[in-house]
This record gives sequence, C-alpha cells and structure tokens, in this order.
Amino acid sequence: MINDNVKTLLKELPANVTLVAAAKARTPAEILQAAEAGIQVVGENYVQEAEEAYRAVGHRVRWHFIGQLQKNKVQKAVKIFDMIETVDSFELAEEIEKRAGRAARIMNVLIEINSGREPQKAGVLPEEAEELIRKIARLQNIHIKGLMTMGPFTGDPEDARPYFIETRKLFEKIKAAGIPRVEMEFLSMGMTNSYQVAIEEGANIVRIGTKIFGER
Ligand SMILES: *Cc1c(COP(=O)(O)O)cnc(C)c1O
Repeated sequence: MINDNVKTLLKELPANVTLVAAAKARTPAEILQAAEAGIQVVGENYVQEAEEAYRAVGHRVRWHFIGQLQKNKVQKAVKIFDMIETVDSFELAEEIEKRAGRAARIMNVLIEINSGREPQKAGVLPEEAEELIRKIARLQNIHIKGLMTMGPFTGDPEDARPYFIETRKLFEKIKAAGIPRVEMEFLSMGMTNSYQVAIEEGANIVRIGTKIFGER
C-alpha cells in the first residue's frame, strides 16, 4: 500500500515539487518502505522519534524537521536534520546557531509563518516575518532557504487557499527585498487534504503523511 501510494503521488506531482513524507507515529519499517518506493525526504515532528528512524534508515533519505522544536532538542536535531522547516523565533535560531557551530555545520532552515494568525499556533506573524528574517540572516551557521506554513485546518482545502496565497506573497516580497544570505528557494505548504491547492498557489515542498502511510 505504501509503495503504491508513493508511486501514485510521485507521478501526480509536478517535477519541481519535493514530496516530504510526514512520518510522525510511523515505524522505521514503514519509512523504509516509503524510501524504497522513491521517497527522498522524510519529515519528522519529534526528535526522539526521528533518532530511532534515523538509526534504521540513515542517509537513504534526507531529513526535515517539521514539528515544534524545543531548545533542549536542538543539539540532537542538528546531527540528524538536513533542514529545520519550523524556525519561528530568534531565540530558537540562536540556539541552532550555537549547536550547528559546535557540530561544524551550516543548518538550512525555513521560517514558519503563522498565516492563520492563530494565537495557539507556532509560527511568526506575517507582518513580523521580514524583521525576524533580517535578524536571523546575520547568524553565520544558518542559511534561510524559504518559508513554511500550516494554515488553519478546517477539512475543506479551499479554506486554506487564502493563507497559502498570503504566504506566497510574503515569499515573493522577501525574495524581492534581496536580503544578504537569504535565499527564497523553498515554499513548504500543503498536506494530504490541501496539497493540490498549495501547489496551485506556489508550494514547491508538500508534506504528506496520511496519503502515503494511511490513517494514523
Ligand atoms: C502531520 C503533518 C503533516 C502531514 O499531515 P497529513 O494530513 O497526514 O498529510 C504535514 N505537516 C506537518 C507539520 C505535520 O505535522
């Protein structure tokens, strides 16, 4: 089933779109099946879960962190992940800067945008994003590579469209600002129920769990 799901998705997605297999609560065996079917990037929400999966799957795939990253998990995260998609504060960025420096690596990050302006949700508010990006851009061991957003979840993918459009506009605005050391290359938006709308609105990374692995 995982094999068929991955192949169907890869056939359907435009060539410029990266499929991230969102693997929370999946076993290393399931992730391996996805990798064998052609998944090249795995998204993990929890560092501890990622460590177990990473031990089993290793460098057969690249690893994106897509959850809420606690500062005390950053040291482990910089050892596993190729990209942290969910940077939303300068404090978190400073910790990544420090830990990436000690690990002698540069960490690629996306800035998470709270496009729905939901008080309980992660992400920086759209109107505060550029200021945050200008600050983080000065950190030597971090490369900002784009934006990520979840958007409010209602069940109807059309409801997500305005939030994807707003995030896309912000992406273009920041790209046009030409901030040194900031590349607006990746726009990560859309999940199982909303990825088609997200791609229509400019996403080039989609994070899909249920449609690959089945219901959690
Ligand atoms: C779980 C999750 C996804 C994938 O959700 P599905 O609806 O299962 O496709 C995408 N992004 C993030 C941040 C997630 O936590």
